[in-house]
Amino acid sequence: MMTMETAQQLDKKDALKQYAAEFYKQPGQIYLDGNSLGLLSKRAETTVLALLHSWKEHGIDGWTAGEQPWYYFSENLGELCAPLVGAKKQEVVLTGSTTTNLHQLLATFFKPTDTKNKILADELNFPSDLYAIQSQLALHNLSKEHMKLVASQDGQTLTTEDIISAMTEDVAVAVLPAVLYRSGQVLDLQAITKAAHEKNILVGFDLCHSIGSIPHQLHDIGADFAFWCNYKHLNGGPGSVAGLFVHEKHFGTAPGLAGWFGSDKTKQFDLDITLTQARDAGAYQIGTPHVLSLAPIAGSLELFNEVGIEAIRAKSLQLTQFMMDCITQEIPNTFTFGNPQDATRGGHLFLVHEEAARVCKALKTAGVVPDFRAPNGIRLAPVALYNSFTEVWQAVQILKTIMTEKMYETYENKRDVIA
Ligand SMILES: *Cc1c(COP(=O)(O)O)cnc(C)c1O
Repeated sequence: MMTMETAQQLDKKDALKQYAAEFYKQPGQIYLDGNSLGLLSKRAETTVLALLHSWKEHGIDGWTAGEQPWYYFSENLGELCAPLVGAKKQEVVLTGSTTTNLHQLLATFFKPTDTKNKILADELNFPSDLYAIQSQLALHNLSKEHMKLVASQDGQTLTTEDIISAMTEDVAVAVLPAVLYRSGQVLDLQAITKAAHEKNILVGFDLCHSIGSIPHQLHDIGADFAFWCNYKHLNGGPGSVAGLFVHEKHFGTAPGLAGWFGSDKTKQFDLDITLTQARDAGAYQIGTPHVLSLAPIAGSLELFNEVGIEAIRAKSLQLTQFMMDCITQEIPNTFTFGNPQDATRGGHLFLVHEEAARVCKALKTAGVVPDFRAPNGIRLAPVALYNSFTEVWQAVQILKTIMTEKMYETYENKRDVIA
């Protein structure tokens, strides 16, 4: 039997509880949307202010002067980010956006031939990835039929067997998420990578919903490439610069979309007409880094490296388990869990309910920030670094009131533009 006291005891034993004070949490609000846009931490604020100061103080010399010279910022942050994805420091660089990085990686690694000319993805993937894949196919005069989608049997999750059996000889590259953005299912990247390589398929992963939430071992499993955004679990701020990983076995492969920031840094200012590309993941950058949008990630990564991703994952699993237990006990027979209930769940829950849109509006009015996913999903992400077990208990009590008193019926059943 779960009670408020259970929650308070779990909070008392929580080794990460002091970190909540490092974030800007609004009084009276329970923020459960850190998988969509993470909250601002004080350390991220500090590194933004430091960046502004370096601009004030140094002007153009900020590229090479000061504590965080902008010219090396993307590489330096890649090094700080590497432990979170299980990479060597040269294999990661922070650059671009998720979608532009996928474009770069496909332009680099998708080399279709007459017999091997398909890109494997899945029907549950985030649409932007699928749009990028289709436009990369079109650049090779290939049609949408060359995008092969793994089907979901239950509409929420994928099986490793289905993914592997879709790896036919005509597939050249596979692009799959590490954590599905709706159900939060964690895929078995190691088994997928191994099977892909047996079929001579290159494999890349979208880490948008996994980075900062679960550990990865990209180098050791031999993944070919990966890409992600840093504004969700990583708390890098709206529009923060994204990341990419290229396994060292591919260093030297010419970037499909070349630009001067992909240069060997010692040669870049030779301004030669041919590119001497960097000998690491830096080669896949294009133009001048978005320095202001890199700044908050520096503070955020410092925090992640101090806490460690294993500790974050351990608390996250505890939080989502506690939330499922409270929902099952307090609001029985109301929602179905679209997320896996075992340890293959990621950092958020996915509650399925036909009134999901209106329930989300009622939650927000009551001070709980959820995330609606059309047509019928409520995503709830209790985040290890700043949410408590008490907040989970309270959020479930608020949800219980909304459901038992049908409070959602007072809201219009109309979708907001961004919901
Ligand atoms: C959030 C997200 C994106 C967003 O891409 P941007 O280029 O940052 O807009 C892409 N793919 C997945 C799976 C996501 O969850």
